[in-house]
Formats: sequence, structure tokens, C-alpha cells
Amino acid sequence: MNTGSHTAQAVYLDYNATAPMRPEALRATRDALQAVGNASSIHDHGRDAAGRVDRARQQVADLLNCSRGELIFTSGATEANNLALHATYASQGNIVTSAVEHPAVLETARALTAEAPGSLMILPVDDEGKIDYGAFRAEVEQRGAALVSIMLANNETGVVTDLAPIAEVAHSVGALVHTDATQYVGRLPLDLEDLNVDLLSLSAHKFGGPQGVGALYIRRGTPLPQRPLVFGGGHERGWRAGTLNVPGIVGLGAAAEAAHRELDAEASRIGKLRDLLEGEILAQLPGSYVNGVGSTRLPGVSSVTFPGCPADALLTSMPDISVSDGSACSAGAPTPSHVLLAMGLGREAADSTLRFSLGYATTEQEIRKAIDATVRAVTHVRAVMDAPGHP
Ligand code: PMP
Repeated sequence: MNTGSHTAQAVYLDYNATAPMRPEALRATRDALQAVGNASSIHDHGRDAAGRVDRARQQVADLLNCSRGELIFTSGATEANNLALHATYASQGNIVTSAVEHPAVLETARALTAEAPGSLMILPVDDEGKIDYGAFRAEVEQRGAALVSIMLANNETGVVTDLAPIAEVAHSVGALVHTDATQYVGRLPLDLEDLNVDLLSLSAHKFGGPQGVGALYIRRGTPLPQRPLVFGGGHERGWRAGTLNVPGIVGLGAAAEAAHRELDAEASRIGKLRDLLEGEILAQLPGSYVNGVGSTRLPGVSSVTFPGCPADALLTSMPDISVSDGSACSAGAPTPSHVLLAMGLGREAADSTLRFSLGYATTEQEIRKAIDATVRAVTHVRAVMDAPGHP
């Protein structure tokens, strides 16, 4: 796969950070960039832009099995999560979430509840990354009205949440359910009729659309006060002001359509490649282990701990493979992954973890290259760490 001129030789296995744009999305975005027109203008050019946005809204709605009027375009999942939590906290006054959420949920929840700390419950997970269903049930039944915000798939481990029973309990006590589905959408089939959540966040760049665009789904009839974060011209039915990012939205729509078409075939092909990667790494590097392996996982994600091998040393030793370390997905100083710590890993183990994430363009040849590079890097780092004189 061609991932850009200066890194053309490197193998890209960091789809959970951002996926390469799908050719369909690239073409559609480029076309839209070349067109002129503000989707709010009533002349021909404006109507043309509005038509492109409508089409994209339908493409996303088709991927999720919802209706167009239930979608609000945003600048990505961070904003969609913020919007969801702000609006629901205003009506529910309580947030129940989990320890393995993305910072876009956890930090928003902490900020919203800072002045009423008892109104935030962060549920622990077990060593496979799963929420304790009994603890969840007890908590939600005691609180009643609340926002339950639980991610559909974890960005670091790929662990998938069985949301339907969670939504059922939450709804039975009058709570609302939001899910951060950023890593799930476009990777596995999703049907909002079955999932039964009230709000869902997604982001284009995780499944082959452009960066900086996403959407929030709000089920029709959900009792929510309208709480925009961005005020102004009343776009997106008053939920988010600002001139629509037409090229981004068009790219999101095209990526959604392409991902939808290929969903089952891609998931099965990618799952086999991930199994190959894990099988070889575990066989060739005794002592290494896969996090969340006992849970249902996304097909393309593998979080592997190499005890005694700091991830930064591994990454330096395998420059031709673009993977992610186990540190928090944030800018600035690296801190050990809160997800791995919540699953019971020690600090050192969390810091000795790599996340491989595969996607629609990953090839078997790339996986074999990544296996060889990982085995060489771990062997090298182990030798350095074991060398006499190493502290
Ligand atoms: N939630 C999850 C689970 C994610 O993985 C990410 C991206 N790292 C986000 C939210 C934020 O998405 P965006 O980049 O679109 O703001």
C-alpha cells in the first residue's frame, strides 16, 4: 500500500490512529474541493453543495441503518462525544461510563461533573477489558436517570462491548445510552435498530475518510435539550453552527459507502491477517501475550505486551513498521495507557506494549514483514536489556 512518498517503504499498521483514505473517498473529496458553493446558499452553486451533503448523509445513514435526520455532522468523534455528553448531562445529571473510554469521553465527563463529583461513576473492567455487567446493573438501577456512555470497541485493544443488554437495563430505569463507536463503524456491521442506543459517535478518518470530520447520531424522539457547543448560524438543525465542511462530509459519505460494500469480506480477510500476526509473534517470542484475547475483538487490532522490552526501544528498533506504543493517545508527555492499567497490567507491562492495527489495504506481505521486524526488534531489545552492565 502506498502511504506517502518518504515512507513508501514503511508498513503502515496504525489504522486505529488514522486509516489511509480510501480511493473513493479521496476522489469524492477532491471533486468537492474543486466545486464552489456554501451548502446554506440558495443559488445553484449552494444547492449543488447542499445536494452533496444530503447524499453523504444518506450514505452514512445507510451504513448505520438510521435516517438522515438523525445525524449531525461534526469535526470528528471528539466533538461528537463532547456534544453528546454536554446535552445529556444537562438533562440527566449523572454520567455512568467506563475506565477504558477514550479521553474524549473520560475528560469530558470529568469536566462536566467536576462540581458534582458524585454524579460521575467510572466502571472498572476485568482483565479481559470487559465491563462487569452486575456492577453496571447495580449502579444504573441505583441512579435511574443518567447518561450511560460506553464505547462499542476499544481503540487500544479492539475489545468489543456487548451493548444490547447494557442498553436494555439502562432504558428500563430511564437512562439514556451513548456509545463512542469510533473504532467500530466501518469495521464491523452495525445496525442501529438492533443496537438500541440513543446516541452514537463516529469519525471518518478511522475507516478511510478524511481527518477532521465525523458525526453524532441522535435517535429521533430522544428527550434532549438542544445544547450546541458551537453557536452561530443554526446549521445542522441548530445543533452545530458553522459553514459545513462540504469536502470532508462528502469524503465521509464516500468512505461510508465503500466500507459498507466491503464490510463482511474485509472483516474476514483482516481477521485472518491479525490471527497470522498474533500466531507467529506468540510462537516466535515466548513470554509475549495479547491483551483482551479472551474477549470479542475487532478483527484488525492486536495489543501485544513484550515483557521487559520498553515500547519506545522497540519502536526505535523497527523503524520500517508504523505501529503505536501502549501509551495514552494524547499529545505531550507519554503516560502509560489507562486502558491497559485498568485491565490490571502493571506500569512496566503497559509500557512494553505495542498496538498493531490493520485495515482494508493491509496485505499478507506487509504482515509477514511486520512479524519479521517485530521478532528482530524484540530479540535485539531483550539482548540489550540482558547485557551485563545494563541497569
Ligand atoms: N474515540 C475513540 C475510541 C478514538 O479512537 C478516537 C480517535 N483516537 C476518538 C474518539 C477521537 O476521534 P477524532 O480523531 O475524530 O476526534
